[in-house]
Amino acid sequence: MLLGGSAVLALGTAVAIFRPTSATRAAEGTFEVTLTDAEWHKRLNDKQYAVLREEATETPGSSPLLYEHRAGTFHCAGCDLALFDSATKFESGTGWPSFYQPLENAVGETTDTSFGMTRTEVHCRRCGGHLGHVFDDGPPPTGLRYCMNGLALTFTPSNA
Ligand SMILES: [Zn+2]
Repeated sequence: MLLGGSAVLALGTAVAIFRPTSATRAAEGTFEVTLTDAEWHKRLNDKQYAVLREEATETPGSSPLLYEHRAGTFHCAGCDLALFDSATKFESGTGWPSFYQPLENAVGETTDTSFGMTRTEVHCRRCGGHLGHVFDDGPPPTGLRYCMNGLALTFTPSNA
């Protein structure tokens, strides 16, 4: 069962920032970049920490990256690994930055069964930070929709 864009929006509006209680945290497992909670708190602000380390979801429509249309690369806010090329970004209408394809060897996926749904969770391959989810209602050429939290990303313009 997958959640369509409008359903995602409705859910996000009802519960702005939520945290799964039966946390299947993305950080479980072994990653190249491993920091203690204290170190992550130092590196990230509170909202970034809630998303990347606790799998919170940002309020839809809240990310400035929704309006980022320059050519460049979106990086992990936790470890700066390059995750998405701006060429794969598209307007999904969900209120979250959306991409149809990650860069090669950039993300990992786990099955997320929180909230009574089965979704595919997406995290940074290098630090395990939670990024968002992937759905199969995206545009060509992949048909995938990587629904990302802007708080988990930073943007670097290609001509900067
Ligand atoms: Zn990372």
